[in-house]
Amino acid sequence: MNLAPHLWRGLLAARRAVRLSLGTLAALVFAVVVASGRLGGDLRGDTPRALELLAVAALGVLLIGKLAARLRFSPPPARLARAAWEARALPVFIELETGLVLVVATWGVLELTGGLRSPLLPLIYALVAFVVTFSRRWLGALLALAAVALEAAVVWRLGRPAWAMRALATHAGFAAFFAVLHLAFVHGEIWRMRRESSARILAEIRAMREEARDFRLISTALGQGSRPVRSREDEETKLYQGAVETIHQSLFYTLELVKQTLELNTCVLLWLDASGERLKIKELVTDSDAVSELPISADAGALGAIVRERVLVNLRKPKRGHVAYYAAPAEIGAFLGVPVLEDGQLRGVLCADRASGQPFETRDEQVLAGAATQILRAIQSERVFAAVEKGKYEHERFYRASELLRSCLTPDQVFDTTFQAVAEIAAFDAAAITLFDKVEKQHTIVRAAGEAKALEGQVFGDNAGLCAMVVKNKHYLPASGELRDRDTPIYTKRLRLKGAESLLVLPLIRGGEAIGTLMVASARRTVFTKDVRDMLGVIANQVAASLDNAQMYRRMEEMATTDGLTGLTNHRTFQERFSQLIERSARHGKKCTLILTDIDHFKKVNDTFGHPMGDQVLKRIAKVLEANVRKIDIVARYGGEEFALVLEETDAEGALKLAERIRMDAAAQSFTKDGGPATVTLSLGIACFPDDAQDKVAMIAASDKCLYAAKHAGRNRGVLASSLDGAAQASKARALKAG
Ligand code: GH3
Ligand code: MG
Ligand code: MG
Repeated sequence: MNLAPHLWRGLLAARRAVRLSLGTLAALVFAVVVASGRLGGDLRGDTPRALELLAVAALGVLLIGKLAARLRFSPPPARLARAAWEARALPVFIELETGLVLVVATWGVLELTGGLRSPLLPLIYALVAFVVTFSRRWLGALLALAAVALEAAVVWRLGRPAWAMRALATHAGFAAFFAVLHLAFVHGEIWRMRRESSARILAEIRAMREEARDFRLISTALGQGSRPVRSREDEETKLYQGAVETIHQSLFYTLELVKQTLELNTCVLLWLDASGERLKIKELVTDSDAVSELPISADAGALGAIVRERVLVNLRKPKRGHVAYYAAPAEIGAFLGVPVLEDGQLRGVLCADRASGQPFETRDEQVLAGAATQILRAIQSERVFAAVEKGKYEHERFYRASELLRSCLTPDQVFDTTFQAVAEIAAFDAAAITLFDKVEKQHTIVRAAGEAKALEGQVFGDNAGLCAMVVKNKHYLPASGELRDRDTPIYTKRLRLKGAESLLVLPLIRGGEAIGTLMVASARRTVFTKDVRDMLGVIANQVAASLDNAQMYRRMEEMATTDGLTGLTNHRTFQERFSQLIERSARHGKKCTLILTDIDHFKKVNDTFGHPMGDQVLKRIAKVLEANVRKIDIVARYGGEEFALVLEETDAEGALKLAERIRMDAAAQSFTKDGGPATVTLSLGIACFPDDAQDKVAMIAASDKCLYAAKHAGRNRGVLASSLDGAAQASKARALKAG
């Protein structure tokens, strides 16, 4: 085995270790020198020999060299590290080394200047403060301890005299006090700086948001975060107020800048009014108090020329009449005016004048024309911002409206929600929903709100009114959203809606057919703009779809609870409702009666006339049963040709009367088919709660028993449970007698 490489590697590692720990080793040796008193001034017995001094001096040089190198190279050179752990340990080690070197070097100085009585003793406190501040905390504590330990060693060497012990205790206390004080101070300082910087950052963020809002990069008018619910008019007003303010600010700054640049007396932006005949001040920056606040004629003087010709006008020493925005005499040395044109349309005039006779030059003309363009651009961009903002919140509302409708489960919910959804999109004073019955050719106002509330429930026929036309044409009317011809009724001549300036009747379209209409009206004009009309159109479609859903939902519910052939309550639902009724009756101490009935010889009907005819008979008997009971009673198809009737708050006697009526009615029904005329009869079993049975199962069993008895006794009759009991008791009595 070749040991040479291992040996070589070992040697290298040792060299590295020595090189790394040289400072620490030197510090430790120096500490021993200090503790042994070889440097000490106070108790030095003999003078040190030259060799000793040389060694100490060499150590001192080494220490100072190390210290200088370390202090210059903080952070410690990680390149020295060979492994990850080393990379982590090295900075700690070097910190420790630097600290130790500092501590022993300081003690060396103290020893040279009188040891424990050295006037430089406070140096040790400064040192402790230093290491505590700049080392990691545990290392700082360790180094402070090392400083105290070194002093303790010196005291030990002196033979622990009382004064030295006292001094040691005092110095240790001071060192600890300084360490803690300094630590607290430094941490406090760090905390304060952190707080200040985070406050500064917050303030900057706030300022930035504010500015973004000024530039309308983020929403102001629509509020932020948890937005309070505002009316749409409120929101629009806020939105436009914000835009107008921003435009005014921008105008003011532009004019101010122009005034300073061109050394003006007045810089004014005049805006043409709707008639095109007058100019009004939009923004003004002036040193004069002679400028008129009133509108001025758009054809007077120089301004008139600009308005008419749409050209720049540059005047030297104009007469007062030429510059019409001065109401009182003012010093005007020169006047310059440019038209503000947008897409070839004159919007206003931007004017400048100066008191000095210095005429405006071409450069000045360019500045003013540039300012006019700038002004227009500010207005246009604000217009775009406003449109985007408005669009954004229209979309939000639209989405909310759709969401509202989507969650409706019953037609009633759809009707009620429709108006809410419409309100999200447009402010209205009246609204109504009609449904069209194709068979009866009738419109019914099923729901109405606001001014139209009184119309709710009204029914009218097919006519020439808007509503009927909309259903026929499947397109909303009036096309403009405004009622032009006031003689055209919305519904009928009689069912009028007064004061509607804006109006829209939208079709509710389902499967390509108009099933009704949605009418919205407002007393204000131009409420239903093209955008709003389009959105309401979508909402109307959604109303129709939601109605469809709701109706389907209702049909499904019906299917689940009713019998498909007769439309009566099915067996499962009968069981549920009968249970509830028994419970209710028991709770209130009321009676209720169950009648079970079965068609006699029904098989024969099927056999003679066929199954379809049998079905007809079942349907007719179902109608007979329904016709004879009250709304609160339950009529159910119990099974094949068996029916159940539950009569609330009815005793056996009452039920028997009803059973008789039903039996007669059923028997009176006649059915004819190829096999000739036919009639059917019913057998009925009647049991009363709580007299004959005390729960549901027992009630059904009791009625069934009576039905069986009726069949047995010859059919076409009703049998009461009580009579059955009576008969049973009588026969029992007979049997006893016979026995
Ligand atoms: P009875 O009750 O008087 O003792 O004689 P029945 O002929 O009515 O007796 P049963 O209860 O045995 O016959 C019932 C018949 O009713 C049998 C079945 O074919 C017929 N039925 C049951 N459900 C339907 C139905 O939905 N439609 C038609 N057409 N017939 C049905
Ligand atoms: Mg039968
Ligand atoms: Mg039967």
